[in-house]
Amino acid sequence: MSSKPISLSCATSRSYDFLIVGGGFAGCVLAERLASQLGLRVLIIDRRPHVGGNAYDHLNEHGIMVHRYGPHIFHTNSRKILDYLSQFTEWRPYEHRVLAHVDGQLLPIPINLTTINRLFGLQLDAAGAKRFLAERASPEIEIRSSRDVVISQVGEELYRKFFEGYTRKQWGRDASLLDRSVTSRIPTRTDEDDRYFQDRYQWMPLHGYTRMFERMLAHEYIDFLPHVDFAKVKNSIQHRHLVYSGPVDEYFGHCFGKLPYRSLRFEHVTLDRPWLQEVAVVNFPSLQVPFTRITEFKHLTGQDHPKTSITREYPSDEGDAYYPIPAPENAALYRRYEALAEGTRGVTFTGRLGTYKYYNMDQVVAQSLSLFEQLTGSMEAGALAAG
Ligand code: FAD
Ligand code: UDP
Repeated sequence: MSSKPISLSCATSRSYDFLIVGGGFAGCVLAERLASQLGLRVLIIDRRPHVGGNAYDHLNEHGIMVHRYGPHIFHTNSRKILDYLSQFTEWRPYEHRVLAHVDGQLLPIPINLTTINRLFGLQLDAAGAKRFLAERASPEIEIRSSRDVVISQVGEELYRKFFEGYTRKQWGRDASLLDRSVTSRIPTRTDEDDRYFQDRYQWMPLHGYTRMFERMLAHEYIDFLPHVDFAKVKNSIQHRHLVYSGPVDEYFGHCFGKLPYRSLRFEHVTLDRPWLQEVAVVNFPSLQVPFTRITEFKHLTGQDHPKTSITREYPSDEGDAYYPIPAPENAALYRRYEALAEGTRGVTFTGRLGTYKYYNMDQVVAQSLSLFEQLTGSMEAGALAAG
């Protein structure tokens, strides 16, 4: 076997221990572990023409490295995950910074001391900014939704300027109808720290994510079959166990109704100038602007090029499933699918779509590493069901 893409006829002529649906982080990490640690034969299939799932990157027609499905910035607090991925890539240091276009200015988001001073024409120090926010915030409210999280920390005015419109565009619903976990991802600061993330390790794969995935799959026991939907081949590929990282409701024919996922349309553009913006990502919270953010990739990759490539993101209900929508009624619907999944012998569901979790990349790596441990335990106990 080889890590190069194989043909359908080749895949159907072979016999595998594991068939993995989805060649994103979830599928690739698990395949690598099963093959390299247990000597098992694995086939990964993906309906897209490439590995990497949403983290796929490539050189565009101008030779500029871009992320086809939006900006992917690696950050984690886990040394274990960093060490695991470091077997397959070197890294470049990169700390992510984002500016938001608000009231005609470009201001740091997460909201920090600079944001407050520039927006309101003040010269506060950290203690002053703390008092300024305390006068506006409503810390006493019961925090149930994503709206409550922001109002409790910064009050109505800053909520409206930075969060209300962005969230409505991104999720197609008001922040009051989203779990608190969504806007809890964004801290509020009263110092000058303008980094988007505060994780201990913030790096980008030096030669890109796709190169990292290719190295992960470069094992003689792993085959990769692109451009193939699971539905087309589910009865024609011999395997003992199935791992499914696509949308869980799709696997079950949407029998309880569709789980809502938010999608995006990406507008990729290359400009005949060296740079467009000061930082990798500029957010546009205003509802007057139809997209949520613009990413300029050279900031992320460090590439030197006379032109620059950017992407605008237009959220949508239609298209590939990108984001599970964290909300109580969706969690309740997911639990019905989860119960069905748990009762389905021979199949394990994983990944952001298979477990309907708004996970970052490092969380998906952690999920796959722990799934590997579980599967190893089941195999040792002779308890792994056949598909
Ligand atoms: P995916 O990457 O979605 O892979 C699933 C794969 O399964 C897909 O390739 C799909 O084609 C395939 N598939 C599904 N169904 C089938 C089927 N029936 N047959 C065949 N193939 C199928 N995380 C971060 O840590 N930092 C970031 O900066 C960041 N930015 C993001 C920006 C955007 C716009 C998005 C959408 C996500 C971002 N993430 C980020 C999250 C990150 O993309 C995910 O955590 C991670 O890629 C999930 O990996 P996965 O393998 O679970 O799913
Ligand atoms: N958010 C916002 N305004 C911003 C940035 C974020 O309202 O300028 C909210 C929005 O609801 C978003 C959420 O915070 O979906 C989480 O932001 P994050 O950048 O983590 O989203 P992702 O990168 O996953 O799209």
